[in-house]
Amino acid sequence: MLREVVMHEVGHTLGLRHNFKGSTIHTLAEINTDEFKGQPHSGSVMDYLPININYELGETQGDWTQVTIGPYDMWAIEYGYIGKKPEKVLKRVSEPLLAYATDEDTWGPDPRARRFDNGMNPLTYAESQIGLAQHLRSKILEDMVEDGESWAEARKAYDMLLYKQLGAVNIASGWIGGSYLNRDKKGDEGDRDPITPIEADQQRRAIQIVLENTMRDEAYGLSPKLLRRMTVDKWWDDGGQRYIFQDETYPVHDKIAGIQAMAMNGILNPQTLNRVYDNEFRATEDEDVVTVPEVLTTVRDAVWGELDGGPQGTYSARSPYISSLRRNAQREHLNRLIDLSMPAGSGFYTAPVSNLSRMQLRELKGTIDSAMRRKGADLDPYSRAHLAEASSLIDRALNAQYLYNTDDIAGGGGGMMFPFMGQPASNADSPSN
Ligand SMILES: [Zn+2]
Repeated sequence: MLREVVMHEVGHTLGLRHNFKGSTIHTLAEINTDEFKGQPHSGSVMDYLPININYELGETQGDWTQVTIGPYDMWAIEYGYIGKKPEKVLKRVSEPLLAYATDEDTWGPDPRARRFDNGMNPLTYAESQIGLAQHLRSKILEDMVEDGESWAEARKAYDMLLYKQLGAVNIASGWIGGSYLNRDKKGDEGDRDPITPIEADQQRRAIQIVLENTMRDEAYGLSPKLLRRMTVDKWWDDGGQRYIFQDETYPVHDKIAGIQAMAMNGILNPQTLNRVYDNEFRATEDEDVVTVPEVLTTVRDAVWGELDGGPQGTYSARSPYISSLRRNAQREHLNRLIDLSMPAGSGFYTAPVSNLSRMQLRELKGTIDSAMRRKGADLDPYSRAHLAEASSLIDRALNAQYLYNTDDIAGGGGGMMFPFMGQPASNADSPSN
């Protein structure tokens, strides 16, 4: 790893910029084979690579990181230093091993131009990371806290794994409405389009990764047994000062609601929805396309799934129809839809997004009202109050269109952020070297 850092920083001194697409030249299955050891994982030492941990990816554990210079680096040095005709060197731009994207591409629509993802299809990396986080989470109490150690280690471990899960969800949300980009010029080998919308099946896979791993209670692996051990140590020195103002009891609802809101924002933000909408127009006639209605419906179905069959039987506050975590998600979803439904919006929203959101609100209200009236079902007070308030909120939102103050719009903006509590400063968000 020291070698990797040295290669990277010397690369800068030689004039090379970051290349975050380097990590997409090989599959993770290829990297994790015996034959691949000693070979460059990425096209470039100028990438930001995560540690390669083979969790259900390949036949063996490959090198943990980039151990040698990549083909893109050789090419860039050839251009800058070897003195061949530059036009001749540049002609190789479309060779797959020379893929390139740098810092200013990381907020663009190409999700392969990202820091700390890995492999030819970063969705596979995201799934592996989530699998790894779930696997380790199940061993926190047994294996991640040593005898004699504080149980506070369990909370640190849980938060660290939750952060990994969220990072993977964030990788996936970047694929929705995305496009593959390249910098080829007219006349370059292969005559590739500089813009190609991402395949519909990959975008659907990305939406599922986000929803499956944030909207279901099971996605968080929490249990009373675990929660009762997830404490903090308070010390009036560097060892514990950052926990001084945290409750020893883990703020489970606040924390999970925050993650659900971030995940929702990762899909239902104006930039993503506008990209999806524009991609519909860019698609060829016979191409399978993810549409804005499909995105909105997929999210709604995942968040309000309980209402499908309606309530059956008797519920109680201790055993509610809709769980506490799910009620938070549903409330957040309503707020998000209401924002999107406001025609004056933030100026980003296209009219169809606003109209579709209002249609969804009306449909949701119908489903909610019929769930509350369902014969033979006895709702618990939590769910009854939640659904009644949701119905009333939709009424007010639909009637308040002309009174809406656009300054109050919350959220918006592309992608997700990580305002994470109790985390060590993350290297993932500080692209400074
Ligand atoms: Zn750098």
